[in-house]
Amino acid sequence: MKIVRTRDEVRSAVASLRGGPREREHAVALVPTMGALHEGHLSLVDRAGERADHVVVSIFVNPLQFAPDEDFERYPRDLQADARLVAQRGAELVFAPSRDEMYGSGVPAVQVVPVRMADRLCGAYRPGHFQGVLTVVAKLFNIVEPDVAIFGRKDFQQSVLIRAMVRDLDMDVAIDVAPIVREGDGLAMSSRNAYLDLASRERATRLYKGLRAAAAAFAEGERDAATLRDLAASPLRDQEGIRPQYVELVEADTLEPLEQARPGSVLAVAAHVGGTRLIDNIVLE
Ligand code: AMP
Repeated sequence: MKIVRTRDEVRSAVASLRGGPREREHAVALVPTMGALHEGHLSLVDRAGERADHVVVSIFVNPLQFAPDEDFERYPRDLQADARLVAQRGAELVFAPSRDEMYGSGVPAVQVVPVRMADRLCGAYRPGHFQGVLTVVAKLFNIVEPDVAIFGRKDFQQSVLIRAMVRDLDMDVAIDVAPIVREGDGLAMSSRNAYLDLASRERATRLYKGLRAAAAAFAEGERDAATLRDLAASPLRDQEGIRPQYVELVEADTLEPLEQARPGSVLAVAAHVGGTRLIDNIVLE
């Protein structure tokens, strides 16, 4: 397993990986991450290995997607530990560029700006966030030129916008979206869970409790969006240490809000627990 720091190095390393015979559906898979890897990220590495002969993991805490008041500076970073983990799961290459390597000394003059679907859900609370995400992902696609890229449904809106970018800008890469990996008590794994103190960690399980209650009601025939949203929001309401941001029922491909749920609709939630912003979602089926 090799760690490379520059665009030139990753390009030539990927070129030599491509040299061998092709056995799987795809030759090269990319798993873009910000590091502080957990079992959720590693499930993407596993999935990448099932779909492609060679797995490349990028690790880059992307300053463009953080607002000035967010946690860019204190975001957890441990490249050596991350590299060991992905090597154990079969990745052959880690691309861990510096900020300078990706952006030079400033902010890129040209960026990928989503004109729809980025102003709702998380986008309503994190203006510019998805522009930063799409810009870095487009750069990673151009640098690594993967045949397939793997993302997690944990970041549901992100996965929808990345599919839309690839479709609308005719990028030649397949997008694969993997299920959410959860802790034993249901909390969706996230690098930011490391910020939670004991009380907040306990409270954080309420996000998924609400989603599950709504999904159970859907399974029993409930279709009214307001009722489902209310069920999902109820464990978060009037709870010390929890500040809900949104609970929305949306159409999975367009993120349009729904009044009536259908199979495949997505219920998504965001809340601050202690000082930490957490998100989660569930597909109703
Ligand atoms: P991040 O490092 O948080 O930017 O995440 C990198 C990738 O891992 C994204 O595609 C995320 O959606 C995915 N991911 C993060 N947490 C999970 C999880 N609990 N289950 C599945 N995928 C995840």
